[in-house]
Amino acid sequence: MPTIIVEDLAKLRSNSSIEGLTQSFLHHLKYSLGLNGQEVTTLDQYLAVSQMTRDRMIDLMVETEKRYADANAKRLCYLSMEFLMGRSLGNNLHNLGIFDQTQEMLKNLGADLEEVRESEVDAALGNGGLGRLAACFLDSLATLGMPGYGYGINYEYGLFKQEMSNGHQTEKPDHWQEDGSPWLIERPDEACLIPVYGYIEHATDRTGEYNPMWMGWNILVGIPHDMPIVGYGAKTVNYLRLYSAQSSSDFDMEIFNEGDYFKAVEQKIKSETISKVLYPKDSFEAGRELRLVQEYFFTACALRDITRTFERSGQSYDHFHEKTAIQLNDTHPSLAIAELMRILVDEKQFTWERAWHITQRTFAFTNHTLLPEAMEKWPVPLFERVLPRHLQVIFEINRRFLKKVASIWPGDPDRQARMSIIEEGPQKQVRMAHLSMVGSHSVNGVAELHSKLLKTKVVTDFHEMWPERFNNKTNGVTQRRWLLKANPGLADLITKKIGDDWIVDATKLKDLEPFAEDPDFQSAFRKIKLRNKEKLAQVIYDTTRYRVDPESLFDIQAKRIHEYKRQLLNIMHIVHQYLCIVEDGEDLVVPRTYIFAGKAAPGYWAAKQYIKLINNIAKVINNDPRTRDQIRVVFVPNYRVSLAEVMIPAADLSEQISTAGKEASGTGNMKFAMNGALTIGTLDGANIEIREEVGEENIIIFGLKAEEIYHMRATQSYDPWDFFRRNTRIRRVMESFNTDLFCAEEPGMFRWIFQTILDQGDEYFHLADLQSYIDAHRRAAREYARPDLWTRKAILNVARIGKFSSDRTIKQYAEEIWNIKGH
Ligand SMILES: *Cc1c(COP(=O)(O)O)cnc(C)c1O
Repeated sequence: MPTIIVEDLAKLRSNSSIEGLTQSFLHHLKYSLGLNGQEVTTLDQYLAVSQMTRDRMIDLMVETEKRYADANAKRLCYLSMEFLMGRSLGNNLHNLGIFDQTQEMLKNLGADLEEVRESEVDAALGNGGLGRLAACFLDSLATLGMPGYGYGINYEYGLFKQEMSNGHQTEKPDHWQEDGSPWLIERPDEACLIPVYGYIEHATDRTGEYNPMWMGWNILVGIPHDMPIVGYGAKTVNYLRLYSAQSSSDFDMEIFNEGDYFKAVEQKIKSETISKVLYPKDSFEAGRELRLVQEYFFTACALRDITRTFERSGQSYDHFHEKTAIQLNDTHPSLAIAELMRILVDEKQFTWERAWHITQRTFAFTNHTLLPEAMEKWPVPLFERVLPRHLQVIFEINRRFLKKVASIWPGDPDRQARMSIIEEGPQKQVRMAHLSMVGSHSVNGVAELHSKLLKTKVVTDFHEMWPERFNNKTNGVTQRRWLLKANPGLADLITKKIGDDWIVDATKLKDLEPFAEDPDFQSAFRKIKLRNKEKLAQVIYDTTRYRVDPESLFDIQAKRIHEYKRQLLNIMHIVHQYLCIVEDGEDLVVPRTYIFAGKAAPGYWAAKQYIKLINNIAKVINNDPRTRDQIRVVFVPNYRVSLAEVMIPAADLSEQISTAGKEASGTGNMKFAMNGALTIGTLDGANIEIREEVGEENIIIFGLKAEEIYHMRATQSYDPWDFFRRNTRIRRVMESFNTDLFCAEEPGMFRWIFQTILDQGDEYFHLADLQSYIDAHRRAAREYARPDLWTRKAILNVARIGKFSSDRTIKQYAEEIWNIKGH
């Protein structure tokens, strides 16, 4: 490639013509990568294109900051342990409005943007839905021109990479920043010093007031790394601020001076461990000290940053909550409540009442789970060792809170015990959800059903005390990533039909409705779906060596592997179909390809067994000449955002089959429907609202409702043996796990499933829902066999999915909780 020397850099960066982009690209090949005349690899091309893109974003970021400052705008800080960003290049090019030009520019130079984009590694700084939600929110905030900033951890290792070994999941480290990331801007000048550990000295001040002093702490240094977030239309660039932990050289010096060289080095290593790795469980895991330190570390860094920014504006702290909103993405960052109190009381000398007034008006809390085992709690002794002053602050918050509870409900010690931030018992624990609710002015669930169950089943006492605090914000996903970028074929077709307003206003997709039965539109729609399925078929072949038929019905369940998500129910249905063919001589209505993907937490034995079972079933079924033309089963390894972007546009059927009352919302369900898959699902989470939107004839619902399940639990009226005895099809499926049908080489391997389901009560109601699920699948197959009918339904799913744009979600948060607006 020729190199061109560039004279006017600033002018170049605002030049979005193909010539301008070419110059910018070549400039970076030479001056950022130091290449001149050598062979240019795809990775080099990726790095140069990214730098070219980043230049444009930085200029816009400076402009955006000035706009907000001039308006003295209120800011939203979104605190989250996880941001599942995936790849950035394609998204940034689309949002900057230079995607097509960049494609052309590279083509002219003999390169291919598609290939270049493939060399970007995912930023997998999250486990699943919660982290991906945060990423979608950042996209929407920037697109809406709102001052919204993400705060999190710059994990050196993201979520593990999943590999398969003899059908078992194995985990490999994801050293995603090995070669650095072009999207992160290090800001050592904005470093924060964070004290941790130590003890309290119970002193009094000059006036004789109790004046506790936090002594003997270690210092952590938090170095921010900013990832610019460009909104669609390139008007606004916000940023995601991710902190890396470093040890403090100053403090180490003290130990050095004491002559303990090894202690100093150990201390240094320990500090740098804090941002080393993301915890790979998508629910809470008790008692890990490092995890508590991580939570504290990034929250404390965020608060330093937020208060510093506020102080620069020269206003008094009494106005803090008028200029700052802080959203807690689950309880992980809830230490921020204690930290802000500590700053105001200890450092700014505010009275407790004044500090509490500000704190409570600043914070808002999002709950993400209904699973009791996922509720975060920390043992008091551990807490005291790591954060002695924060524990004191929490005790004082709790003392005042319980006094209020006692005044509302005098003589009700049970209620005080239930509501206390501190759980009594042999091991005292800090309940982070209680701290979050007490310290916030808003508590929201993430789908209508979830918010209702929170109020009526989970935290009823709190709802009784503060009904006005509770609200719902149904989750959403960004159509820019999940339709425009992931499914360019469909995006183009839509834009040709109804224009491109849907990119910033997903309700405009409604304009597609009149074309749902149009034969030409249907045929174009089907052709695109087929292309997407061919693309996925290629990925499946590359990663599993199984060949699948793109003309078959693609039935996909892609999400974390979890008992409550019931991959096992899906498996049971597949086994049922297999046995109907080989034992009863039946034929399927339509050939099917069952596609699974998802990671299991490394310590989650049952989930890992499911993966092995799926792989074993795939081997048996795919190699059985009696069924191989009718059913294929594949497990696609290493589910992640970039794989989701290939899988979701290729789906005909989307499996959303959690036990009713267990899935808070789900967002995978929204992405699939947005890409024209029909949902087969339970009345759980946002499935209920998806049904309301797309119409009940365009979704396939089955199974027990949440209320029915609550009732059966309460009355202990569910006995899986009843279903086993009465239903021969269910019995046959269950017995297959008790034999070695799917584990000839590992005898007895899946017998535990038979036992757990039948003898341990089937906690997730698989057998209670199985027949209903089988029936639902038959309905789905009969409809799929009529392409015009199916395509109509698929198109209507796309047309009516507008509500589930994260733009709508963010507008509601902005108006009803944050009181921020676009600038
Ligand atoms: C959307 C998404 C999820 C969440 O899927 P659910 O079906 O809502 O659990 C998890 N992982 C990735 C990579 C995603 O993109």
